[in-house]
Amino acid sequence: MIQALRGTKDILPEDVGYWQQLEQTAREILTKAVYSEIRVPIFEQTSLFERGIGEATDIVGKEMYTFKDRGDRFITLRPEGTAGVVRSYISNKLHAQGVQRLWYTGPMFRYERPQAGRQRQFHQIGLEVLGTGSPRADVEAIAIATDILKAIGLNDLQLDINSVGRGEDRQKYREALVTYLEPYKADLDEDSRDRLTRNPLRILDSKDQKTQEIAQDAPKLIEYLSDSSKKHFDTVLQLLTDLEIKYQINHCLVRGLDYYTHTAFEIQSADLGAQATVCGGGRYDGLVGELGGPETQAFGWAMGMERLVLLLQKLQESPTAKPDFYLVSRGEMAEAQGLVLAQQLRNAGFTVELDLSGSAFGKQFKRGDRSGAVACLVLGDAEAEKQTVNLKWLASGEQQAIAQSELLGMSEELRAKGLGAK
Ligand code: ATP
Ligand code: MG
Repeated sequence: MIQALRGTKDILPEDVGYWQQLEQTAREILTKAVYSEIRVPIFEQTSLFERGIGEATDIVGKEMYTFKDRGDRFITLRPEGTAGVVRSYISNKLHAQGVQRLWYTGPMFRYERPQAGRQRQFHQIGLEVLGTGSPRADVEAIAIATDILKAIGLNDLQLDINSVGRGEDRQKYREALVTYLEPYKADLDEDSRDRLTRNPLRILDSKDQKTQEIAQDAPKLIEYLSDSSKKHFDTVLQLLTDLEIKYQINHCLVRGLDYYTHTAFEIQSADLGAQATVCGGGRYDGLVGELGGPETQAFGWAMGMERLVLLLQKLQESPTAKPDFYLVSRGEMAEAQGLVLAQQLRNAGFTVELDLSGSAFGKQFKRGDRSGAVACLVLGDAEAEKQTVNLKWLASGEQQAIAQSELLGMSEELRAKGLGAK
């Protein structure tokens, strides 16, 4: 038997309702803020991610699915969404069209150790706003994220925020941090020792307990910000307060990606164990230029959909679609008419589940009950002969025989009874 690859998961019909609910909620909220969906390729040239995400990051260093195609090109399955969107922004000259508010959803690929809420193929919803450096863009985007999370019913959320300043600010800070960490070198975890020369800021968000203790007393990045970086950060915090969005400053929050500037944030849920972060993002004023486009200020975030679905599963039953009608038929003529009637009702805006079994009426009725339908439509030889149908309301058991043509003319009455709601 062929198994699915480790770190991949089928999303089965019993769960797909959660995914659709999440996608629909996000789409509605993003659309209200006039964000447009963008769909970009799932694979790109490897160099896009190497440059866009940064060689010293975990993603590029150890997590990418990279292969050579038959034309000897290095190709990578996208590990995240921003690099591809920015590549598209540049290659389609979207910068000529003013500020771009974009969102995307789809699968991402990272070679990781699979566990609850961590897969090798996983899904994100993300947004990018390109062409503005206004702190209002940061806060609008964060507010959209919190609105989406609240709309799907998550209340126990924590927003951590920090500023990583600009490249120059970080350069000075990096030196101070390395000077502070050097004496503790032997006590750091292995990854962090390695990062001391390659990417020292990332040591701050090490998951190792001893390293975390050491990092607690490290100099703070915030103290190295230039006046203009500090002003940006203060404005962001003030605007969050204006919107009554609670936050806490987390000096160790630096994010994994090299292109971030100014604001960095993460949203965590207390209801998830080790994989608690449901959304992360920040400002990345350096990336568009780095990838060969015009210098462009930008902000973005991404949400991990698997983790949100795990939370939704704890909160509610799976939102499964229930049909308006369950159509039961038996006998050659009845079955043929049943198919036609089902299509006509669907075209009139109703959902109809057609029993295709041809089994005894009793068995079909049982399935009709279990389907959650509002009403059963029953067609046997007698009904087919007269072109009628038996309409049976499943809640009350009430039945009526009516002409098929009459049923099709009853749309308004049926809608008044709550059918055809979607
Ligand atoms: P983590 O620290 O959990 O590895 P990250 O910093 O690598 O997260 P980002 O690159 O910022 O994560 O991605 C944004 C969000 O996507 C994360 O907050 C998380 O919810 C989700 N995510 C990241 N990697 C995975 C994965 N392998 N499986 C499922 N969800 C993921
Ligand atoms: Mg990661």
